[in-house]
Amino acid sequence: MFAKKKKYSFVSLILTAMFSIFLLVPYASAYVYYDGGYPSATYKLDFGYSRYNSTWTNRISAAVSSWNSTSTPVWITNDGTSSNKVYAANYADSWYGLYTPSTNWLGSVTSFNIKLNSRTLNADASNWDHFVESTTVHEIGHSLSLDHNNNTSIMNSGRDRNTMYKPQTDDINGVNAYY
Ligand SMILES: [Zn+2]
Repeated sequence: MFAKKKKYSFVSLILTAMFSIFLLVPYASAYVYYDGGYPSATYKLDFGYSRYNSTWTNRISAAVSSWNSTSTPVWITNDGTSSNKVYAANYADSWYGLYTPSTNWLGSVTSFNIKLNSRTLNADASNWDHFVESTTVHEIGHSLSLDHNNNTSIMNSGRDRNTMYKPQTDDINGVNAYY
């Protein structure tokens, strides 16, 4: 009787553990990874001070600052000579922002650029500063190996860009698990 009872307890313990894992997994891996990210979370970026006025560079700088102030290995500094660059222009495409990596013959990411579409941003933003910052924080998220998801995340394409413009807990967890 004792042995049998012990066996049932063991089985129920295993079942409880399995159930707990099923419950925890969706939360633990909410973020999604993208394989075109930069190999390091510490890098230099040409913010575009030589190309754009403060209307743009203040937002780019604010987006970088909000990543730099997270408890992650992220540390991005401005360097006009960096091959990692941010561009802002009128693009005919429908996107607000676009992240494009460059790779070497081994497929490793060596540099990237981020494009901000002034045409769509100007057309759709209610709060322009927040909307542009949200877009820039999102594109920097791609450089940090984060892909789109459907969570409370700066990487959620359905987020309200007027009100969500900082890296969220899910984004921070994703970067910390990667770098
Ligand atoms: Zn994206």
